[in-house]
Amino acid sequence: MGAGTIRSGAEMSLFAKTAQAIAALALVVTTLVPSQVFAWGGYGHRTTGEIALANIRPETRAAIEKLLKYEKPLGTPECPLATLQDATVWPDCVRRTRWRWGYTAAWHYRTTPICEDYRAFANCSGGNCVTAQIERNQRLLADESLPAPIRLEALAFMVHFVGDIHMPLHSGDKDDRGGNDRETAYGIVPGLNLHRIWDGALAERAITSTDGPIARRYSPEERARYSGGEPADWGRESWQTARDMVYPNAFDTDPCAGDLPDETALTQEDIVEAVPVAQRRIKQAGLRMADMLDRAFEPGALPEPEPRRR
Ligand SMILES: [Zn+2]
Repeated sequence: MGAGTIRSGAEMSLFAKTAQAIAALALVVTTLVPSQVFAWGGYGHRTTGEIALANIRPETRAAIEKLLKYEKPLGTPECPLATLQDATVWPDCVRRTRWRWGYTAAWHYRTTPICEDYRAFANCSGGNCVTAQIERNQRLLADESLPAPIRLEALAFMVHFVGDIHMPLHSGDKDDRGGNDRETAYGIVPGLNLHRIWDGALAERAITSTDGPIARRYSPEERARYSGGEPADWGRESWQTARDMVYPNAFDTDPCAGDLPDETALTQEDIVEAVPVAQRRIKQAGLRMADMLDRAFEPGALPEPEPRRR
């Protein structure tokens, strides 16, 4: 406040409160704008959950609603878990609390170099990778002898990882942590990285640029086209998509012909080419998630666990 201004106590406090509110708002705006515009990772995941929800059996939906009532015992009030859509983002939220959930960080991906032969079981020591964790958590979810909060936690991990495994850069890698180390512009927006673009801006554009809503009930023919396979197949598809589409699209060169530059840019043409690919991966994730949920809640639908692979 300027010197020489005289105000009563009440006016002072009103003035101070208004100034405080403006300062707080400015802080919120400056901290939220960059992340809200481009951090749509949650939007992609939530959409896969919405697709699944529109395509599961009514019995499955009822069983999920029952489990969601056990949100409180999990003890993660900062990461809500009241809906299936919440469940699709819960594992990303809790892993920020490293002292408690740090051990789950490696469960979100299983990257394989795009320029080497695909190795189906590499980079998964002790089952700490996305492929193994999808299967493990589906089994925990299906096991009615386990306490409900454990099954709810498994539900959240399973649905989140089904989303992650469909993102090509959670599987394919070119010495850059799945594109995280490649500074990439998105059209005229500089300073992002390739991984973040596929997680965020591109997924958002893919979701919002379909003819009808992407989250809807799909016909049996469509379901047959987009679903099927096992988590290992989905990871391989992602790896192949990274090798044949994501990297060549971003760098306009054969990614395996030599080293790639540290920086690149997606042009409008690149983005237009990438959108249908992102759309397909999001639909596949949602419909395969629906199948996994239906099977988890159908008594006797899952085969007996295989003996541990050596
Ligand atoms: Zn994740």
